Amino acid sequence: MLSQSPKPIVNHIPFSKLSTSGEELNYIEKAILSGCIIGDGHYTKLCQAWLKDHLGAAQVLLTHSCTAALEMAFILADIQPGDEVIMPSYTFVSTANAVVLRGGVPIFVDVRSDTLNLDETKIKAAITARTKAIAPVHYAGLACEMTTILDLAEQYGLRVVEDAAQGICSKYAGQPIGSFGNLAAFSFHGTKNIVSGEGGALVVNDPSLVERAEIIWEKGTNRSQFFRGDVDKYTWVDIGSSYLPSDIIAAFLWSQLQQANGITQHRMTIWDRYHQAFESLEEDQKVRRPIIPQGCQHNAHIYYLLVDSLETRTKILSSLKSHGVQATFHYVPLHSAPAGRKYGRQSGELAVTEEICDRIVRLPLFANMTSEEVDFIILLVHESLT
Ligand SMILES: *Cc1c(COP(=O)(O)O)cnc(C)c1O
Repeated sequence: MLSQSPKPIVNHIPFSKLSTSGEELNYIEKAILSGCIIGDGHYTKLCQAWLKDHLGAAQVLLTHSCTAALEMAFILADIQPGDEVIMPSYTFVSTANAVVLRGGVPIFVDVRSDTLNLDETKIKAAITARTKAIAPVHYAGLACEMTTILDLAEQYGLRVVEDAAQGICSKYAGQPIGSFGNLAAFSFHGTKNIVSGEGGALVVNDPSLVERAEIIWEKGTNRSQFFRGDVDKYTWVDIGSSYLPSDIIAAFLWSQLQQANGITQHRMTIWDRYHQAFESLEEDQKVRRPIIPQGCQHNAHIYYLLVDSLETRTKILSSLKSHGVQATFHYVPLHSAPAGRKYGRQSGELAVTEEICDRIVRLPLFANMTSEEVDFIILLVHESLT
């Protein structure tokens, strides 16, 4: 098979594509027929209960994005102007932006060369008298070294905010990602595993933060307490904003959450097919495949390869593109981005971050991808590396 020249058997393979579970329209219709589609409705409560149960959390609140959940998290973590939050530079901008919006300073630390996650051995050197929190990002749905991170947090009295945007249904030491930090944030953006177009959730694991989380969520009012009958009128009690999604969004998400295991399994099959097919390229030292440490159960969020140079990456991407396959890369390291230089600071050398960002290739992965599509991409990658 590999000796044949690739033929365009499919017109176009996008990087990611919506995989519906079948009940989305049904639930949306029910939400509309119920006569009420504002936030905190029937489907919002179902989604929150599912996530709360899945995570064993004190409370879960749906938000309109993971970005919004992170913003809530750093209000709750009480980040004041000048306070520092330790995080990887190799992440999406929202991890850092949420800190900067509080007047805080993101402190960028390097990532591990195996998992591309925050290097836990470099956290200690980044801690100062101003450090308030650590924000581990579970890259590709693969858990950070949470035992070490939680130990450091306890030792230095720091809060832990997990950026679990990519981490739904992943586990670390048998426990779900998002259940470790004081707070965690999930994303249901259209490019993630479980989606509602735009969407997210704030996970509150620390029971002492639940009441304030609900207030911030409800525009700074005690409306949640009022609806429970805990207070006889509701009023403005704290800062906050409008973080709730419409119940139409939650209806869509509910359909997806009910199929979460099946969707993850489908992605796993594709991930494994890629992984096996690239073993020989790794043996020939042409690529480095993802490394899954013991004790980490990932969710097949991303399949990536590390190639030897920016040149090789450009060659692979353009070969895939010319055959209608949309592969991609990320991130521009935050410490080198204009806003990162302005608002953040780096701790130590970021050698791994600077090196991998030019060498990473991300391949298309979505639950309803056909094996023909996967094999076509595998063939093209093999061809462009020989
Ligand atoms: C996708 C992503 C976000 C942002 O999620 P939204 O729901 O789009 O706001 C934040 N952090 C990481 C690591 C992400 O991958």
